[in-house]
Amino acid sequence: MPTSNRTQHRATIETIAVRAGIESDSQHGAITPPLYLSSNYSFAGFDDKREFDYSRSGNPTRQLLGQALADLEGGYDGIVTSSGMSAIFAVIQLLKGGERILAPHDCYGGTFRLFKSYAEKGLISLDFVDQTDEVALTAALQKKPKLVWIETPSNPLLRVVDIEKISKQAKEHGALVAVDNTFLSPVFQKPLLLGADIVVHSTTKYINGHSDVVGGAVIAKDQQVFEDIKWWANCTGVTGAAFDSFLTLRGLRTLDVRIQRHAKNANKLVDYLVSHPQVEHVYFPGLVGHPGHEIAKKQQSGFGSMISFKINGDVEAVKAFLTGLNVFSLAESLGGVESLICHPATMTHAAVSIEEQAIAGITQNLLRVSVGIENIDDLIEDFESGFNALPSNESIPISAAVAGC
Ligand SMILES: *Cc1c(COP(=O)(O)O)cnc(C)c1O
Repeated sequence: MPTSNRTQHRATIETIAVRAGIESDSQHGAITPPLYLSSNYSFAGFDDKREFDYSRSGNPTRQLLGQALADLEGGYDGIVTSSGMSAIFAVIQLLKGGERILAPHDCYGGTFRLFKSYAEKGLISLDFVDQTDEVALTAALQKKPKLVWIETPSNPLLRVVDIEKISKQAKEHGALVAVDNTFLSPVFQKPLLLGADIVVHSTTKYINGHSDVVGGAVIAKDQQVFEDIKWWANCTGVTGAAFDSFLTLRGLRTLDVRIQRHAKNANKLVDYLVSHPQVEHVYFPGLVGHPGHEIAKKQQSGFGSMISFKINGDVEAVKAFLTGLNVFSLAESLGGVESLICHPATMTHAAVSIEEQAIAGITQNLLRVSVGIENIDDLIEDFESGFNALPSNESIPISAAVAGC
């Protein structure tokens, strides 16, 4: 273990998350680890540097969070960054000029934009492929990428790819494998144990879980990769603020109970949606008919709590449905305790052209839900009120409209 604060290895998610840094304060015996806001630290004496000297390079509060995330993911250590995007930015600093990234065609929009802009500036070579297409993936690997990027389940249609299989193939071609694990968290998926080298999180989402911090993290399986990314994070100044780390560590304490409750609610909401006459299609890896269901069952320990579905109707129906909601908030982002609903075509994926949206399966009647931890009956009742607001609802017998409740 890299530092003195991590004296004990604790194997279970719940215990790691709750106990990280507890009673680590030797000065006063504080139960909760103190927040170190100081930007700098004194030298013990001439030429005698202590563990920390400057908070961009290292900070005790941030370090606790990084180590906790690494313990949760089964990695060597973690680097906490100012956002999910800066975590991804830090990872790609590992590439030398012209080296290649192989990324999924449906990766997070910010990731897509960063990789594409780096390629357009001539800094890297880049291929976007549908990683569920084995022929395309094999062909892209022949080009010897330095880094294979994986994001599963993907946004917003929750496509699932096989981390173990892709990691193995990537290794045969000498590539590093990084997985964006934001959608599931280590509670439901541990990419490092499936063969990946690096895990990235937008801790803004489930890790913090309270929609009050923007942050990110990189967790590396090996020391050398960790040291290299840590060096770049310090060099480029993308390390996270101490206060954000303090809040995120506080959010992390309840990660397991939150994730379990999120998932329980999501399962019930899916059950409701699949039997609703006003729903055209439900995208959720937990459904047997979902194309990634078998892989999800194998590599995940839960199906998560992101759901997408298509309303039976056009954009007017979507508008009416959203207007009928009182509990769900119309907002981007995900992973907070509160339930959110978003219209990808005009919100998260608005920068994507209509043609590209069509290719990606993003239609005007698609909605994405981040299921929160409120009482599930209230959430279902809220959807019921949304469906009741649909213009076409008059033609549906009341008994059918409420059948799924
Ligand atoms: C939100 C998100 C990011 C970007 O994280 P920020 O904290 O917003 O910078 C990256 N990947 C995924 C999957 C995300 O959902």
